[in-house]
Amino acid sequence: MSERTSFDVLIIGAGQAGIPLAHALAKAGKRVGLTEREHLGGSCVNFGCTPTKAVISSARMVHQARRAAGFGLRIPMIEVDFPAVLERAKRILMESRDGLGAGLADSDNPKLLRGHAKIAGREGEKFCVRINDEMVTAAQLVLDTGTRSLIPPIEGLADVDFIHSENWLEKSDLPKHLAIIGGGYIGLEMGQFYRRMGSRVTIIEESDQIAGREDEDVAQALQGLLETDGVEFQLHSNVKRVASLNSGLVLTIEGSDGPHQFGATHVFVATGRQPNTDALGLETVGVRVSGSGIVEVNERLETSLQGIWAAGDIRGGPMFTHTSWDDYRVLMSQLTGDGSHTTDRIVPYAIFTDPELGRVGSTERESRTAGKRFKVGRYEMRKNGKAREQGDTAGFVFIFIQPWLRLYRAFCWICHKGIAVRLPLFYSRIG
Ligand SMILES: Cc1cc2nc3c(=O)[nH]c(=O)nc-3n(C[C@H](O)[C@H](O)[C@H](O)COP(=O)(O)OP(=O)(O)OC[C@H]3O[C@@H](n4cnc5c(N)ncnc54)[C@H](O)[C@@H]3O)c2cc1C
Repeated sequence: MSERTSFDVLIIGAGQAGIPLAHALAKAGKRVGLTEREHLGGSCVNFGCTPTKAVISSARMVHQARRAAGFGLRIPMIEVDFPAVLERAKRILMESRDGLGAGLADSDNPKLLRGHAKIAGREGEKFCVRINDEMVTAAQLVLDTGTRSLIPPIEGLADVDFIHSENWLEKSDLPKHLAIIGGGYIGLEMGQFYRRMGSRVTIIEESDQIAGREDEDVAQALQGLLETDGVEFQLHSNVKRVASLNSGLVLTIEGSDGPHQFGATHVFVATGRQPNTDALGLETVGVRVSGSGIVEVNERLETSLQGIWAAGDIRGGPMFTHTSWDDYRVLMSQLTGDGSHTTDRIVPYAIFTDPELGRVGSTERESRTAGKRFKVGRYEMRKNGKAREQGDTAGFVFIFIQPWLRLYRAFCWICHKGIAVRLPLFYSRIG
């Protein structure tokens, strides 16, 4: 019997945490395996952050061109070449994907193993993992398998060719009228993008506000800004059924005034993300997961089973590239360092609409609920000289301060992560 390949650490999923962790662990002297079943770079590079931000830049460009007259410029004809916009985004993502591939191509440590990895029990102290037909073992496992679109059980949806976060780059026909189900950050960013490309866009959200994690006043301001772009909204509206009719679609929507029917040419489902933990074989070793598939971890990112760790979106909490990337630093600290780096961190984030919404710290609602005392400072962008000169006067900065030390820590975190912010709609509610 041939001997099995064995690793000190096997990382399942070459996402935002997995790749830097693999390189850093190998450099620290560990024998490291990295498995990937699809494309290196995971969601962020292949269909998430990178291509969405690339097309959002095209959308901002055309938006600015349409405003040119107000700046004393004449642009006689502005034409959107939608397939070319998508092609540009694909080119940019391929540069990132290829760069990651080049870093792993001839490497024996970390060793890249292509295929779907599934845990297959234990062999003594080691964990067994099947990757396609090959069985390997590892002393420790890191799970970084990311998420996929959560598709709600809407009647008829499976029978239509709907758009979602994983396939939007392949849909090169610009929708005439796009219905987006879900008013979270993906729905809002993509809604503004398609609108600026020339689609009519209606965002359908089941709750009473978009951007559900934000304070109501902030969400309303963001909705108002998108409405000035021509994005339409239906709140309190639950899509119950989707059906084809002639060359379009009919959505049956349950709203506060009862059911109604709504016509669109295309539908984009942006109703959240689902962890890729269902086909991982976690039950063979007894790693605990929640009902929604999130892997239970402590602040050191260790799962319920010693020797198995989880990083990125599947570990619950904030689902961003920068938090996943920071998880790699937590894991380096746990696996090779003094264990002092944990997930007790302040997480800034942005919704990349134009203007963007940025936040760090808890919301006003959360702080009030927790009985915290705070001071509020609000500054309208229309009072800012640079904003007036640039013609970008929409939005506000909201600073919500409790202990100064935490505000200071938050800004240090932002600076340390090198996040460049152009956030006219920025609020910081530290609690
Ligand atoms: C449309 C969209 C836009 C986004 N925009 C932003 C943004 O602007 N800013 C931001 O911070 N975040 C953004 N995100 C979120 C960001 O993409 C994720 O938070 C981040 O990619 C999560 O990284 P991860 O390490 O958890 O997993 P991922 O990067 O998703 O990687 C997981 C990898 O594991 C692989 N895999 C899964 N199961 C297996 C298996 N069994 N065997 C082998 N391989 C496996 C997958 O193929 C994948 O490559 C966006 C997400 C989407 C969907």
